[in-house]
Amino acid sequence: MAGEFALIKRLCQQIPTWGNSGPDLGPGDDAAVVTVPEGQQLVVTTDTLNAGVHFFPDADPASVGYKSLAVNLSDLAAMAALPRWVSLSISLPVSGVDLQAWIDAFADGFAQLASQHQVALTGGDLTSGPLSVSVTAMGLVPRGTAVQRSGAQPGDKIIVSGTLGDAAGALQLMRTEQPVPEVLQRQLLRPQPQVSLGLALREVASSMIDISDGLLADIGHLLTASRCGGNLFVHQLPVSKTLKTLADFDWSWPLTGGDDYQLCFTLAPRYMQRLTEISNAAGVELSVIGEVTAQREINCYGSQGELITPEATGWTHF
Ligand code: ADP
Ligand code: MG
Repeated sequence: MAGEFALIKRLCQQIPTWGNSGPDLGPGDDAAVVTVPEGQQLVVTTDTLNAGVHFFPDADPASVGYKSLAVNLSDLAAMAALPRWVSLSISLPVSGVDLQAWIDAFADGFAQLASQHQVALTGGDLTSGPLSVSVTAMGLVPRGTAVQRSGAQPGDKIIVSGTLGDAAGALQLMRTEQPVPEVLQRQLLRPQPQVSLGLALREVASSMIDISDGLLADIGHLLTASRCGGNLFVHQLPVSKTLKTLADFDWSWPLTGGDDYQLCFTLAPRYMQRLTEISNAAGVELSVIGEVTAQREINCYGSQGELITPEATGWTHF
């Protein structure tokens, strides 16, 4: 049986720890050391994935590895930060899992995304317990340029990237034991964090959030932080063809389904002419889905201008 330190070694051999953006001191000491360049600020975020809550206990460990990093890079993207370092804490059950095989597959998925974004592993923790992965990601922004949730102004447009509801649709199909189209499965298991888009929106977006708990819930967080309200046009939500043509398609998937990891941001009217340029630069579709209002409530409208009242806003743990 592989011991704790042998497993840590395997992780660190597979996930880049140094490279261009490596820490000054990486895994192996009591803590890591990084240098924040002059004039920049460190942006830090943590997200945990628990078996049975965020992924099926028998899920492919490679996709758990990929997604555990993706959801954290998505949070950095939503702040317009450039991802640099990551700390990784894993809890593994003592029995019922081939630890070495699990770690190897997990590291493979994690390393794929880490390499793509040149993110370096600074260290972490490995303990026994219920299957759980917690990642702390660190990124950089020039001082004062992090995009917050609180900057939306009445009159700004509300925009989202990519398509919404694919992961929620995939989950629903899995739960009802129906075949899941490949593109939908990918969105659920290997979401693409919109890092380039986040960077392109720095100094342009008035506010930003990533959509993890469902569009309506997350827009709610953004508008509350901005002390504003909004009008949302449900028929303008970007929905993939694959999703829309499913027999079971339900508008609640894009509106309130979780796990999208797209960015939702607000743009002052004077920046709207730059939308196509930003979309091309970041390589992702952008859709205007609403506008910020001064009244502190969110109203959803259908294609005929009728008011829609969704049953829920999104996922909550408690
Ligand atoms: P300590 O007991 O001082 O907290 P640990 O024994 O937990 O240290 O870890 C030893 C070293 O291995 C540390 O440098 C730590 O960052 C690294 N490490 C532990 N777990 C992981 C992990 N999951 N990924 C990467 N590095 C890890
Ligand atoms: Mg120590």
